[in-house]
Amino acid sequence: MPIDPICKKIVPEDTPCNTEYGGKKYHFCSDWCQVKFEHLEKSVIRMKRSIPAKERIAFGKLRKDIIKPGICTLCGACSATCDSITIKNDQPTLIDKCTACGVCYNQCPRTITTEEGLVGKMRNAYRARSALPNIKGQDGGVVTAMLSYALDEGLIDCAIVTTRSEEEPWKPVPMIARTCDELLDSSGSMYSHSMTMSALMSAIKQGLRSIAFVGPSCNIDAVTKMQKSPYGFLNLFMRANIVKMGLFCMDTFYYEGIKEFVESKNIRLEDIESMKIRKGQFEFHTPEELKVYPLHELDMYRSSSCKFCTDMAAESADISFGGVGTPQGWTTVIARSGLGYELYNEAVDNGYIDSHLLEEKEMKGALNLAKMKKIQMYSLNRRQNI
Ligand SMILES: Cc1cc2nc3c(=O)[nH]c(=O)nc-3n(C[C@H](O)[C@H](O)[C@H](O)COP(=O)(O)OP(=O)(O)OC[C@H]3O[C@@H](n4cnc5c(N)ncnc54)[C@H](O)[C@@H]3O)c2cc1C
Ligand code: SF4
Ligand code: SF4
Ligand code: SF4
Repeated sequence: MPIDPICKKIVPEDTPCNTEYGGKKYHFCSDWCQVKFEHLEKSVIRMKRSIPAKERIAFGKLRKDIIKPGICTLCGACSATCDSITIKNDQPTLIDKCTACGVCYNQCPRTITTEEGLVGKMRNAYRARSALPNIKGQDGGVVTAMLSYALDEGLIDCAIVTTRSEEEPWKPVPMIARTCDELLDSSGSMYSHSMTMSALMSAIKQGLRSIAFVGPSCNIDAVTKMQKSPYGFLNLFMRANIVKMGLFCMDTFYYEGIKEFVESKNIRLEDIESMKIRKGQFEFHTPEELKVYPLHELDMYRSSSCKFCTDMAAESADISFGGVGTPQGWTTVIARSGLGYELYNEAVDNGYIDSHLLEEKEMKGALNLAKMKKIQMYSLNRRQNI
């Protein structure tokens, strides 16, 4: 026997109140239920059908991602559109069958369901590496190759980059690079905060007007704020055109902390040739060997600010670069603004960069990492450790 979809009563097969919608016949106990169906339920059915297959997520995921960690705001959006959900003991609770239509997950204000929500605005994404044999870099050397192109062509007066201190090995020192040799010295990643803004201010004060600025999202945000804030150094920033080149970033560590950690493993910082964070591990290359440690061993040295950071992909940059997603020796590139897109593609066209469109599975790697960063603020473990 059919069930009235509105009042859930069992109704006779030959009830005069019935309608067909989307290839399915619906039966009602009364005109009132039929009218309600016409006005409301059709739109819910339409909405459920319009959600693409990969977004059809069951209630279990809403429970796991949002309700269990305590992120739910009790807005009631999920229970308002699905009769299978009710609010019980101050929690959305499943009380009937879940068809995994995905509506509750997709409309919950606390879930992140779009690529843009995870990694920011994107014009195009690429897997790339330097096409110049002298540029090696941290991943594909694309940042350095793109900067080299911009300097060679006279498109920028200088680049704000970060190099290693001569006195204290692996201590990041921001610098104004005006030659390709200086750029080569600055390639590679250092996993401590670099005070890049001081170098940028100094460059502007020296009268440099066209500047490429490299840094992780917190640095890029500092530039963006200066460019917009009526209370900052707007008078200085008005004078310069700045292309913002963001670095993906999950963490940095206090310099003294990295030093203490490395020395506790009987390695001297000055003997380390390169450092890399990859797949939850910290890798140190010395001339003799590769040492690999689980990243959580450095937890106590993580910069406190990074626990509160939710922007992995430097979303307000003109173009962003990271290692996640692509194979070793390649850089993942997200071109965002027209400026970032044009500059990058000119460097490709002029033979500085070997570039390919990013494949879906490569993008997924970046999206997963970005998601980890977005939800880390919600993680109870992290909060308890603060
Ligand atoms: C602190 C930090 C954390 C990172 N975490 C991740 C991560 O979790 N996942 C991921 O996919 N990618 C991460 N990256 C980005 C990655 O390490 C590479 O920088 C990126 O893939 C570009 O590689 P490349 O070979 O094209 O760059 P390269 O050509 O090697 O150029 C790297 C540029 O980064 C600059 N730089 C180096 N260290 C710093 C610093 N501390 N502050 C500001 N600028 C710096 C250099 O001056 C240089 O201009 C991180 C980078 C940094 C600096
Ligand atoms: S049937 Fe209800 S509980 Fe299940 S996914 Fe759809 S909206 Fe969520
Ligand atoms: S829609 Fe999300 S935030 Fe709102 S009550 Fe449901 S789970 Fe909570
Ligand atoms: S995790 Fe965030 S706050 Fe920390 S260095 Fe990276 S971008 Fe800056």
